[in-house]
Amino acid sequence: MDDQLAISVRGLRKAYGDTVAVAGVDLDVHRGEVFALLGPNGAGKTTTVEILEGFRQRDAGEVRVLGSDPANPEANWRARVGIVLQGTGEFDELTVGEVVRHFAGFYPDADDPDKVVERVGLAGKAKARTHTLSGGQKRRLDVALGIIGRPELLFLDEPTTGFDPEARREFWELIRDLAAAGTTIVLTTHYLDEAEALADRVGVIVGGRLVEVAPPKELGHRQEALATISWRTPDGTPETAQSATPTALVTELAARFGGEVPGLTVTRPTLEDVYLTMIGHR
Ligand code: ATP
Repeated sequence: MDDQLAISVRGLRKAYGDTVAVAGVDLDVHRGEVFALLGPNGAGKTTTVEILEGFRQRDAGEVRVLGSDPANPEANWRARVGIVLQGTGEFDELTVGEVVRHFAGFYPDADDPDKVVERVGLAGKAKARTHTLSGGQKRRLDVALGIIGRPELLFLDEPTTGFDPEARREFWELIRDLAAAGTTIVLTTHYLDEAEALADRVGVIVGGRLVEVAPPKELGHRQEALATISWRTPDGTPETAQSATPTALVTELAARFGGEVPGLTVTRPTLEDVYLTMIGHR
């Protein structure tokens, strides 16, 4: 296997009875990459990710995660993979600091619990019992537990669901810090702006198939899509045109108006636009 790959998947398949959840997925994730898996409800994201995490058995296909088959990993593999689960509710009576220290004990080379608590923005809550945390604070604790073992590869399942906008931005900074420190990150999300803000590449999974993998800017040939130019005529009527050469049109409009063009905007399809087209077409 290529040492530059954190994850390599070929021909992955998984069915639950008659329901085919994963219908032949091929995927490579490079070391140090932030990879986002997008797809509508029931597309097969969780099934795929849980097979990579070693929590579900596959029906067919080749899977390598940090060089091991997750179904039969090498000793110590589990400690190299961080998993952020949704809600670790069974430690309600312990404090944040206690839970993080408890988890640190599971790893051969754990990070400093106090530093990790601070890093996820819970320093002020270190002595709070976990059942008193808000939803967003609980998710931060989940992240602390996912990174306490200094994982080489971190899986995050819908990490910012329920966060307020400020908490999401702070969380994104944390993910960027981890990525900058060399951690490979695989996240699932329903937020297109999150994928765009964080991911080096996104994979769109629909009906158990990976329909496209690309950097967010290139997904769905977004860069080549026509630009939409909007402005107002001198009597205030809104006008819109589509163009492959928007600069030429804007130059022409500027000449026509003798300077500023009222209400001028130039837009290209957003990631959400191309994503919705992509999943709607299938
Ligand atoms: P979501 O965005 O809603 O979390 P997902 O992309 O993660 O969806 P999966 O949870 O992988 O999708 O589900 C894929 C398909 O497999 C769905 O049709 C789902 O109903 C089915 N499925 C998932 N887990 C099981 C299970 N344990 N038993 C039976 N069917 C399952």
